[in-house]
Amino acid sequence: MARAVIALGSNLGDRAGHLHRAVESLKCLPGTRVLAVSSFIETAPVDVPPAYQDLSFLNGALILETALEPEALLDELNRLEAEAGRVRAERNGPRPLDLDIILYEGVRVQSARLTLPHPRAHLRDFVLRPLAELGISREGVCCNRLPEKR
Ligand code: ATP
Ligand code: CA
Ligand code: CA
Repeated sequence: MARAVIALGSNLGDRAGHLHRAVESLKCLPGTRVLAVSSFIETAPVDVPPAYQDLSFLNGALILETALEPEALLDELNRLEAEAGRVRAERNGPRPLDLDIILYEGVRVQSARLTLPHPRAHLRDFVLRPLAELGISREGVCCNRLPEKR
């Protein structure tokens, strides 16, 4: 089993509903247990096209334990995003659900589909604030380190 940290975001539709449903769906993934969930916080849009500046985000993060390999986990996250109605029409466009893998148990990957640790997470307050609540610092993200198991 590996522990992974997932960042959740939504800026379209029933944002809290999308995030809550994502947490419940992650609990049901094969060989997966959700260990801790942050609160969800309202954040200002960052890096979004000017037309969508009015759409603020709801962001959160969670730690899970899973038997899924990183790519299989990403497949499941992409499936949940699609089920929430996400359409990838334009870069940084509005999305009912965004699920990023921030860390996966010390694994480093750089492939066409997946980069671990997430390369931009340590630059983003809207990711770091929920992570801090889970005991994960910016340094933890940069050093690819999860907190000790409790
Ligand atoms: P950002 O990655 O800067 O937060 P984004 O989340 O808006 O941007 P998406 O359109 O959701 O970007 O994803 C683009 C691609 O990023 C996905 O198709 C996925 O294959 C790839 N990707 C690479 N590394 C990761 C990761 N650690 N977690 C999630 N997706 C990743
Ligand atoms: Ca993202
Ligand atoms: Ca994403």
